[in-house]
Amino acid sequence: MELIDAAHPRYDQYRALFNGMIDRRPGLIARCGTPGHVAAILQRARAAGHEVAVRAGGHSVAGLSGNDGGVVIDVRPMKSIQVDPKARRARVGAGVTWGEFDRATQRHGLATTGGRVPSTGVAGFTLGGGSGWLERRYGLACDNLVSVDLVTADGRQVTASAVQHPELFWALHGGGGNFGVATSFEFSLHPVGPVVLAGLMMWPGDAAVDVARTYRDTAFGAPGELGSALVFTTAPAAGFVPAQLQGTTVAAIAVLWAGLPDEGHDVLKIFRDLGPGADLVAPMPYADFQRLIDEPPGLHNYWTADYLDDCPDGAIDVLVRSGLHRPSAQSQQLLLPWGGAVAQIPEFATPLAHRSARWIAHPFAIWPGPAGTERGIGWVQALRRDIAGYANGGAYLNFIGDEGPDRVRAAYGEANYGRLAAVKAEWDPGNIFQGNQNIIPAGLPAVTRAACGRRQHGSALPAGAQGDGRPGAALPPGAGPVRGRHRPAVAGAALIPRARAGCPSRSPMAGSWRCPLVRTCTRTPDVPVMPPGHAPA
Ligand SMILES: Cc1cc2nc3c(=O)[nH]c(=O)nc-3n(C[C@H](O)[C@H](O)[C@H](O)COP(=O)(O)OP(=O)(O)OC[C@H]3O[C@@H](n4cnc5c(N)ncnc54)[C@H](O)[C@@H]3O)c2cc1C
Repeated sequence: MELIDAAHPRYDQYRALFNGMIDRRPGLIARCGTPGHVAAILQRARAAGHEVAVRAGGHSVAGLSGNDGGVVIDVRPMKSIQVDPKARRARVGAGVTWGEFDRATQRHGLATTGGRVPSTGVAGFTLGGGSGWLERRYGLACDNLVSVDLVTADGRQVTASAVQHPELFWALHGGGGNFGVATSFEFSLHPVGPVVLAGLMMWPGDAAVDVARTYRDTAFGAPGELGSALVFTTAPAAGFVPAQLQGTTVAAIAVLWAGLPDEGHDVLKIFRDLGPGADLVAPMPYADFQRLIDEPPGLHNYWTADYLDDCPDGAIDVLVRSGLHRPSAQSQQLLLPWGGAVAQIPEFATPLAHRSARWIAHPFAIWPGPAGTERGIGWVQALRRDIAGYANGGAYLNFIGDEGPDRVRAAYGEANYGRLAAVKAEWDPGNIFQGNQNIIPAGLPAVTRAACGRRQHGSALPAGAQGDGRPGAALPPGAGPVRGRHRPAVAGAALIPRARAGCPSRSPMAGSWRCPLVRTCTRTPDVPVMPPGHAPA
C-alpha cells in the first residue's frame, strides 16, 4: 500500500479529480493494491474517526471520491483483468477503467455495457447503474453483474452475488458506494463486434427541430440493438466535417448498432432521409467507438439530468432552444432513450427506479476556467427549470451532481429507498461510506454528516452550485472552486469532524439543501488527525 500525504511529490497528481471545478485536499490518500490493504486502512481510519472517501476513476462530477482532510481509499492500483471467453465472463479489479475493460474483452469479440468515455472507472460507473451504448440490448452495466467482492465497513471481505448476500447484491445494482469498498467485479459478457456500425450524423442548427422530432419518433421504439443519443454539440474543425458546419452548433445523432450492419443501415435510413450535413456512421471497431469521446480531465463541469416519461413537441422545443444556446463549445446536451433491455428489468428488481421512463434529458456544461462558471451553471439550471413540466421527478444519479437527499430518494423511489436504507443499516450502520449519493441507514437521523457536515465543510462547491437541484435555483454567489471553504481553521493539523451522526440538529430545509448549521458546525468536536508525515502504515 502506498500512502500519500500533502508532502508527497505526487500528492497533487493523485488527489486530482476529473471535474476541475473541484479542488479537494485529503489528509491521506491510501493507494490500495489488495482487499487486505483496503481493510487495513479502513480499520485505522475508523478507529481514528477520519472521514472516508473511495476513489476509482475519479469521474464523479460532484467530486464525491475526494474529501478535505480525510482519508481517500484509492483503488486504482487494482488493475487485474481476467476474461474467460468460454464462460463469457470477465473479472476485473476495481481500478480498471472502461477503456481497459473494452480492450481486454474485445480481443475475444466480447463486451458488456460500459462507459461512453474510456477513462470512466468501472467501479463508480457500475455501482451507480452504468448507462452505455449497449444498454438497450444488454441492460445497464449493473444488470450484467455476476458478483462483487467488497470490503465492508467493519473490515470483512465478502462476496455478494445472487446466492451470497443476495440483498446486498441487490443494493449494489445502482446503490452506489454506500455498502463497502468494492475490490473486484465479475460481469457477464456478450458477443459484440469487434466491428460495429457506429458514428455520428450532423445537421446544421436550423434543422434541429426536424431532426429532434424524427429522433424522438424513432429512437425509443427502435430495436434494442440501436444505442443512440440526440446531441447538441459544436462540430469540430476537422477535415471530415464539411467546412460550413465546422465550429457551428449542430444537432447530431450518435449511434451504435449492436447487430448486423445491414439491418442497422435499414434502421438508420429514416435519419439519413433527413439529409445530414455530415454522415460519419460507418463500420468501425467497437473498442475504437468507445474511445472516440475522451474528454480531458481538469475542465470545469456542471451536470444534471431528468427523466421524461414522454417527449412531446413542447419538450422538444425546450431542448432545441437550450441546445442551440450552449454556454461554451465544450458543453453538450443529450437526449438519451431508455427502453429496450433497460425497461425489461422490473422496477423493484434493482434499486434503480424509473426504468420505464422513455428519455433522459442530460445537459452538461463544460468550460475551461472560473470565468465561465456563472454562464455554465446558469445554462444547466435554466434547462432544468424549463424542462421541469415534462420531467417525472426522478434522476439517474450517475448523471447529476450533488443535488441533495431528495433527489437521491427520487432516483430510487420510496420503496427502493426504504429497502436500500435497511441494507445500509445492516452493512454500514454508522454511515462510514458517505462520500457518495448517500443513503441514510434506516434508524439513523436523516441529517448526518453527509447531509450537513461533509458537503458543507468539504464540498468544493457551495450549496446549490453542483447542484442544488431546484429548478431555477439562483446561482450562489462565488460559485466555483472553493478550496477548503468551510474547513475549520486550526493551525498545523488537518481537521475533520469526528461525530459520525454529525450535525446536532435536523435541517427543516432538507429539501432545499441548505443546512442551517453551515456556520455552526464547528460545534461538532474536531480532532487533529494525520499531520504530514504521520500517515498510518
Ligand atoms: C466524462 C464522463 C463521462 C461519463 N459517462 C457516463 C456514461 O456514459 N454513463 C454513465 O452511467 N455515467 C457516466 N458518467 C458518470 C460516471 O459513471 C459516474 O460519475 C461514476 O460514479 C464514475 O465512476 P468513477 O469510478 O470514475 O468515479 P469516482 O469519482 O472514483 O467514484 C464515483 C463514486 O463511486 C464511488 N466508488 C468508486 N469506486 C468505488 C469502489 N471501488 N467501491 C465503492 N465505491 C466506489 C465513489 O466513492 C464515488 O461516490 C460519466 C462521467 C464523466 C466525468
